[in-house]
Amino acid sequence: MSVASAPRVLVIEDDPDIWRSLELLLQGAGYVPSWAADGLAGLDRFADDRPDLVVLDLGLPKLDGWTVLERLRHLSDVPVLLLTARGLEHEKVRGLLGGADDYLTKPYGNDELVARLRSLLRRRPPPHDDLTVFDDGRVRVDLARGGVEVAGSPVVLTPTEFRLLAALVRHPGQVLTHDQLLELAWRQAPGAGRGRIKFAILGLRRKLSWTDAETSPIESVRGFGYRYVAPLRG
Ligand code: CA
Repeated sequence: MSVASAPRVLVIEDDPDIWRSLELLLQGAGYVPSWAADGLAGLDRFADDRPDLVVLDLGLPKLDGWTVLERLRHLSDVPVLLLTARGLEHEKVRGLLGGADDYLTKPYGNDELVARLRSLLRRRPPPHDDLTVFDDGRVRVDLARGGVEVAGSPVVLTPTEFRLLAALVRHPGQVLTHDQLLELAWRQAPGAGRGRIKFAILGLRRKLSWTDAETSPIESVRGFGYRYVAPLRG
């Protein structure tokens, strides 16, 4: 990847040790990192640099991460990866509702961080509804004709299960809310029978042999919805 096309990643993080390790990691992964050590500096830096992606710590001096996120969302639809503290799981949901694209809990693994960034950058521009075949090596979904294969073997899904899977893989890494899933897979009004989503997800995971909740590519985000997690590789 040439320097000219290398994605620019702005890290808004007040801990200099974390920044230094992120700087090395991001450079090694082919990105051009920049740093702001507080929320106000982060917004200034964002306006100056127009980065391709923002890594945002939530606990920041001068302006906290929530406020930074809110202001970023008024300015831009740049992908934002939140760094949240361990044990504050509810922050995930708040962050996603606030417009973050993804989150990682500290301490995170370097490989996982890079994989998440790649996934966020791949998603730009946003997913096209005219995608005809989704294939990430884990599952192949023929969105035009309706076929699904796992490891080269066809899997038979119900029409609802297929629409559910199609909705999830069209938005890899992005959480779809219960209401969005009802609309996309059932063509139902918001709020109608959310229990059916859980039931259909269970069926889908079973048919795709993704029943282990820890490793299933279809991740449940409590109180919010589900997302298709991009594979950790590359
Ligand atoms: Ca912090």
